Amino acid sequence: MAKASITAPSRQQLDSPVYDELGMERNPDNLYLQTIDAVLHAAEVLELPHRVQIILAQPVNEIMVHFPVRMDDGHHALFKGYRVQHNNALGPFKGGLRFHPDVHLDDVKSLSALMTMKCSLVRVPFGGAKGGVKCDPWKLSSGELMRVTRRFVSAIAPMIGPDHDIPAPDMGTNAQVMAWFADTYMNITRGVSGNDALAVVTGKPVEMGGSLGREKATGQGVIDVLAEMLPELNLSIKGGTCSLIGYGNVGSWAGKLWTERGGTVLAVMDHTGAIYNSEGLDTHALDAYVKEAGGVNGFEKTHHGAQKISEEEFYSTQVDVFIPAALEQMITPEKAQLMNCKVVAEAANAPTTPAGERVLMEKGVEILPAILCSAGGVTVSYFEWVQNRSNVYWDAEKVDDELNRHMVLAARRVGLARHRYGVEMRTAAYIAALDQIGKVYALRGIFP
Ligand code: NAD
Repeated sequence: MAKASITAPSRQQLDSPVYDELGMERNPDNLYLQTIDAVLHAAEVLELPHRVQIILAQPVNEIMVHFPVRMDDGHHALFKGYRVQHNNALGPFKGGLRFHPDVHLDDVKSLSALMTMKCSLVRVPFGGAKGGVKCDPWKLSSGELMRVTRRFVSAIAPMIGPDHDIPAPDMGTNAQVMAWFADTYMNITRGVSGNDALAVVTGKPVEMGGSLGREKATGQGVIDVLAEMLPELNLSIKGGTCSLIGYGNVGSWAGKLWTERGGTVLAVMDHTGAIYNSEGLDTHALDAYVKEAGGVNGFEKTHHGAQKISEEEFYSTQVDVFIPAALEQMITPEKAQLMNCKVVAEAANAPTTPAGERVLMEKGVEILPAILCSAGGVTVSYFEWVQNRSNVYWDAEKVDDELNRHMVLAARRVGLARHRYGVEMRTAAYIAALDQIGKVYALRGIFP
């Protein structure tokens, strides 16, 4: 992967004629525009026909619902929910469900487009979607969370289904929420048999049709990609160093698996603070601590060698691999200036702003994009859906092996596209994804 071969800019500057044609405002701060701009840039490099470019520039459906929920104190509150179905050329819409106070339509649209790209890149037969409810799940009681989930499912039930649109967990939702989701759908739908209805959502508890290995899948996928790609960059996990933003589901699994393979995690930051250990943090102990304490803050008081550091010190820590596994858009140009790493592995969705990416690229940092690094979750979600539909359940070893196979092949597709087109890794990943979508549109044609 010689850097000298990179000729194309990382992303275009909102200059596609498609925006005028579709009446889309060229707002560089809009996350959806940023996402689609990178997709359209890759589509142009690949010379995808105009008809495919305009189809991908906008989602198929943008569903917005409002629904009332009775709160514990007896009053009723009105909630706003979204389901954006971006594209289903490759199969049913697929994508997570986020419960968060900052959920907005444009963000959900952006995440839905990323899902289209992600599913295509790892070659699972799904399209892309994303959903969300504007709420603060950490402030809701368990009963309120259940009623919000059930009312949201009843509001969108006619627009989803095991053969049409299959949600999954994302930030603020978990296996319990997916269990309520499936139960509600099974109760209110007619004409879909029990077992098939179970496949309306993935990320369910194992006792209720969930797949072994789903919880760790995204973190494991990040490590599978790094194991495949680091040697080409003259790096390796064994003996390598990394830092992580976020120590939730994705971050903690990535951290634990990185150390299990002989690497060292030097620094971790989350919403409560940042910690550092020059000898390497005990990633399993940190996981147990975060689950108990709610964040990394204070870990230094319980573990010898660990110390509290500032946000600036965290970003400046010298590591081989920097893994953002928290929110979108955290790597701004200012943060990118501070960063001291050779590789960024995007475990979160869209963690790097276009301006931040330009700074990193000027510094010669290799960015392994989110549609590749964070695709492990949807891959095992696909395995869960297959198991639900077939009623044949896999052991953990089979899930791990199949996940590894999908991630390694996806990483190789990106490497091939990079060499063939002489582009950086993000554009290469979109090209590898769009190649499949373009071929399917060429075969299917446009109805009627
Ligand atoms: P999570 O809720 O389990 O963890 C989120 C982490 O982000 C926590 O450690 C939290 O402390 C940290 N965080 C929140 N705000 C922060 C801030 N301001 N500064 C620093 N850290 C902050 O969520 P998750 O499931 O681990 O997801 C993390 C990211 O990965 C999200 O972008 C999500 O969309 C993406 N993702 C998740 C999956 C999955 O299977 N869970 C799959 C693909 C992508």
